[in-house]
Amino acid sequence: MIYEIIEYMTKIYKSGNYSCLKVIIMDVFENVKKQVDEITELMGLSKEEANVLLSPKRIVQTSFPVRLDSGKVRRFNGYRVQFNDARGPTKGGIRFHPNVDLSEIKSLGFWMAIKCAVVNIPYGGAKGGVEVNPKELSSTELEKLSRGYIRSMHEILGPEIDIPAPDVYTNSQIMAWMLDEYEKIKGVHAPAMITAKPISLGGSKARDIATGLGGVFVMDQAVKKFVSDKKKKEITIAVQGFGNVGSFFSLYANKEGYNIVAVSDSHGGLYEPNGIDPIKVIACKEAGKDVESCHSDKNQRSNSIKKISNAELLELDVDILVPAALENQITKANSEKIKAKIIIELANGPITPEADAILHKKGIEVIPDILANAGGVATSYFEWVQNKQGYYWEEEEVISKLKKIMDSSFFEVLKSKEEYKTDMRKGAQALAIKKILEAEKLRGNV
Ligand code: GLU
Repeated sequence: MIYEIIEYMTKIYKSGNYSCLKVIIMDVFENVKKQVDEITELMGLSKEEANVLLSPKRIVQTSFPVRLDSGKVRRFNGYRVQFNDARGPTKGGIRFHPNVDLSEIKSLGFWMAIKCAVVNIPYGGAKGGVEVNPKELSSTELEKLSRGYIRSMHEILGPEIDIPAPDVYTNSQIMAWMLDEYEKIKGVHAPAMITAKPISLGGSKARDIATGLGGVFVMDQAVKKFVSDKKKKEITIAVQGFGNVGSFFSLYANKEGYNIVAVSDSHGGLYEPNGIDPIKVIACKEAGKDVESCHSDKNQRSNSIKKISNAELLELDVDILVPAALENQITKANSEKIKAKIIIELANGPITPEADAILHKKGIEVIPDILANAGGVATSYFEWVQNKQGYYWEEEEVISKLKKIMDSSFFEVLKSKEEYKTDMRKGAQALAIKKILEAEKLRGNV
């Protein structure tokens, strides 16, 4: 085995394609294990308790066919990990991404269980994914892929079993195809089997903006607590990632009066110390451009705007850094160079445990993913409740419930942080783990 690894690494070295090394080096579930080790020590948990937390309840891996537009059939690897269901049916998104693998989906399923417990919604945690680059597929192929995933997974999904939602590179149209496929197979209407659907199929108002807006509510509280003397317009923010989450976060943060000075997508970003107007970048992206090329957009142009790489964005001298893309962006390698005072994790798992320790030592406050981006799943919960009631709420009602849940969760996490004399991440984890273990104990599982 070791020789095969050496041979593989030599090949990569020669080809210059170092990104492949990620496959060997980054096993995301190792991050989860480290987190659980640390929290086990902090909370004084038993080995059995730690074991229950780290054991996924059900892992399903499938390989399903899709006939491409060319007439050829291609098989895709699909995953669904229902990590923990002690507190309710499992809940979590489905991502379409070329780097999807079992370790990543397991980790994301674990974090969903913790996240749902942090914001106190009656769900366990799950995650799903397909190893695919959706940008290479036509719309018809994407529809077939979405329906194929449901055909291979429908037996383990359902409103009282496991409820998917969007995640990286999936959206409300994909949820619509998935819902339709599920309903065709089962022969019933079951809108509560999936969330973040289009409103005309039973989706909730404000679900599309919920993760970004929830992040702004949490940031408001964090600023009040950790930044004493600045007005909102003096607070500078850099946002990495301009998908659903990053773009709506930027939009609402800007509306609230904060100064968004940098944004990026997977190709690169823009930096403008005097402030970027997110509406213009959204319009430019909708016209099919990358964030970086919005530089030359006539609406956006200013003397001081410049292109920056994703790595440079993370290291900018700003008040608040918002990683809103993928996991493992801030690592041991770049954490010493981070200058922000607060990090709001809108992506899942963007900071490795080693980097987390370094940031903590540097006095940087990290508002963890399991709190900061929980507005999405909290609003998915509201959608599920509306589907079950068959009674739909106005947008103001959804937003006011979202604000309430994000504010109260922030203060509960803060209380737990102070109780354990630790950081916000461990405070949030401890709060969630207490709830999960209590449910496991009542069920007689530990
Ligand atoms: N994928 C989102 C997350 O990571 C949303 C999950 C959901 O709404 O179920 O939180």
